[in-house]
Parts: sequence; C-alpha cells; structure tokens
Amino acid sequence: MRQLIHIFLSCLMLTSCSTAAALPETPPEHLVPAEQAAQILPEVPEPGRMPELFPLDQEAEEGAAPEEGSPAPETPVEPLPETQRVVDPTRPMVALTFDDGPHAVYTDQILDILEKNGAVATFFEVARNLPKAPDAVRRAVDLGCEIGSHSYRHANLGKMDQAAQQADQAAADAIFQEVLGTTPTLLRPPYGSMNKTLKTTCGRSIVTWSIDTEDWLSKDADKVVASVQNAGNLDGQVILLHSIYGSTVEATEVLVPWLLEQGYQLVTISELIQLRFGDQVEPNRSYNYDYFRFHVPPLPAATEPAAA
Ligand SMILES: [Zn+2]
Repeated sequence: MRQLIHIFLSCLMLTSCSTAAALPETPPEHLVPAEQAAQILPEVPEPGRMPELFPLDQEAEEGAAPEEGSPAPETPVEPLPETQRVVDPTRPMVALTFDDGPHAVYTDQILDILEKNGAVATFFEVARNLPKAPDAVRRAVDLGCEIGSHSYRHANLGKMDQAAQQADQAAADAIFQEVLGTTPTLLRPPYGSMNKTLKTTCGRSIVTWSIDTEDWLSKDADKVVASVQNAGNLDGQVILLHSIYGSTVEATEVLVPWLLEQGYQLVTISELIQLRFGDQVEPNRSYNYDYFRFHVPPLPAATEPAAA
C-alpha cells in the first residue's frame, strides 16, 4: 500500500507541475481508500488555476482536515513532501534543464544540489533510460521538479513521419506511465530536431532552450559555468545541460548557488512559461529560442506591503 500511495503521490506532484493545457486527470481512486485519499491529497487544482505555487502547505492542510467522526486510518499515510517553495512573479526567473538522463549516479547528485539549495529544475529524460534510475526520477518529482520526455531512444524526431513519431511517443509513454504513473506534457526533441508534423500533431508542448552551455562538448565544468555567467541577463532564460556528465554535476554545484545569489528564482519550465511569461503551456505549440530570448515581458512591479 505504501508503494501505491507513493506512486499516487508522484502522479499528483507531476500533475501539479503541469498546466491548464494538460488538466489533471481524474485521480485513480482505486489506489487509495477514500478516507486516506482525503488525508494525503490537497484538492485537485481546477482548470486555469495556478496550482502549487502559492502557499502550498496551507492548501494541503485544508485538504487534510478529516471529517468529524471519521475513523482514524489504520495504515500510516506518508505525509506530503515538506516544501516552502514559493515563486514570486515580480522577481527574475531561470529554468535549468537537464537532458539525456536519468543517470544512475549523476541524476541523484544533481538532485542533492537542488534540494540543498531549495531549487528545482526540469529533466528531459530518455524514456528507455528510466529503468536505470527510476527512484531518482520519482525523487525529482517529489522535490517539485518537472519531468519532460526526450523521446524513447533519443530519436531524431524531425526526420520521422507521423506514424514513426507516434510509435516513439507511445513506447516512451508506456515507460513514463510505469515509473511515474503519468505521462509527460512536455517534449524536448533530441538535437532540437522537429518538423511541422511533430509541431502540429504530437499533442505535447515542445520546449527547446535559449542558453546552450555545450557541456556535452567541453565536458569541462569551468567552461560550463563561464558559459552561463557570461551570458548576460538570464531572466526568463532556459539553460541547456545534460545529466550524464560528472563535469556537469560539478558545474551545477557552482551554478545553482550563484544563480540564487544573483537574485534569480530557479523554476520549472511550466512555472517559467506561466509565471514569468504570463502564458499557457499548450499542446502542439513550440516554446523555442526566440520565445525565451526575445519575448520576456517586463517584470511587474512588486506589490507594496499593506500599511499596518
Ligand atoms: Zn539529448
């Protein structure tokens, strides 16, 4: 039962990172008895409402209020993950993205860095790699990170016809479903390669990047760090990294605290699009270099605290 609840929670957390374009599915109630579900679940976010980003804990507690007179559950229920993370839409944001994993060692090391700094990132995973580190992927979700698809086998989707693209996606989805209990709403095509068919029929939000660290090329932590630190204003930007190199882990160890010191909030892709761009994460739409690089809206003015 604990495992089922864990899977169910993972499913919920991933859903809470997704968007109005991919509404939460009906909770699989058969997994958890109703009275227990009431204890572990905050209310399911409504369409169009921003889930999870503003005081999450209160919401979870409201949902957890037991009905009067209801019997105490017999089995202990795992609590929702403790999280104090709040995204302030008046402050700059950056999305770190890690492709090509999960990796049996490095994914957890990256998660350690994120957790230590109270930060999150988005992982675009190659589906057939998931069995190498399924616990790490579930841990990422539990920490508030977002999981996107990077295809089943790192395929060049831009050179495929629709049938082949859909076959790849179906194979990938089966593994994501098995490991996470849900399927990704975001797709990052390997090599950034896409064609019109993919863009218009994949049913996912296609997300590329705006800052390329070329970590796969240099495999040099100092160069990766410099590529970000010398990139100018990073507000609204999506940084491309890969979770399969030790040098990238080293660079992440430096970059995460540095970005926070510079005043950037580290957010997921869906959070960036919704909260920094004031936009929706929609299927069959591309969010690319031009989008992130040249269409960052001005920051709204911070609201003054109410006079006492
Ligand atoms: Zn890749």
